[in-house]
Amino acid sequence: MDESLQTLRRKVALGTRILAGQGCLGDILGHLSVRIPGTDRMFIRCLGDEEKGLLYTDVRHVRRVGFDRTVEQVEGYRVPLELPIHGEIYKARPEARAVLHAHPYHCLVATIAGIELRPIYGSYDPLSLGAAIRGIPVYPRSVLIDSPELAAEFMAAMGDRDCCLMRGHGLTVYGPTVEAATLLALRLEMLAKVTLDAARAGGRPPEPLPQADLDAFAFVLEEGIQHAVSKVYEWTWNHYAQRVADTVGLPAEDP
Ligand SMILES: [Zn+2]
Repeated sequence: MDESLQTLRRKVALGTRILAGQGCLGDILGHLSVRIPGTDRMFIRCLGDEEKGLLYTDVRHVRRVGFDRTVEQVEGYRVPLELPIHGEIYKARPEARAVLHAHPYHCLVATIAGIELRPIYGSYDPLSLGAAIRGIPVYPRSVLIDSPELAAEFMAAMGDRDCCLMRGHGLTVYGPTVEAATLLALRLEMLAKVTLDAARAGGRPPEPLPQADLDAFAFVLEEGIQHAVSKVYEWTWNHYAQRVADTVGLPAEDP
């Protein structure tokens, strides 16, 4: 396999270990994928016969699959039931290079409690603040997204955003890179945790920041901010990669 493609597979494996290590992915549920440039295929974390869970993802678990479930190289592996989330996003959003579908606990609880994720903090984390200012939509159904039709319904709820909560289910995000999608999901889960903790502490869902403070963060909404903060993505990714290396170890290469 082409070295650049192997690099993409490695990133999906490492991103999965990072997300599982941080509690954003659970034991075996949820999946991260990356678009294979110039094709209608992706690399996606599949479940293998001898499965130990997402925290122990190796490169061999990341298989090449068609957007329409045209199965390739998946002998001994099970393609995720909710593959249409990935395939339909890749088809409809050319800017989507990586997609994550996960069931993070605090996002789940917020949707069950009917508590919106709003811009409740500023400098604490401008990335999730930016997402909250743009608005974080909620898909109101709790069904498995296992068909292109349901994926279309889900994407209608997602609108033009790069993230969407799913009621009684979880979260889906996409990004221009595996690193960006991974970091966005980690930070949205953090926003959900802060929102729930603040709601408990204050006895009611927290209020958004005053407009003057939100205006001070208008820069996070500017186009091109991804480039301006690309070092943030790189450093944060490196930080979490090191934590994986120091705990469960880096993903094994495909033998
Ligand atoms: Zn799901």
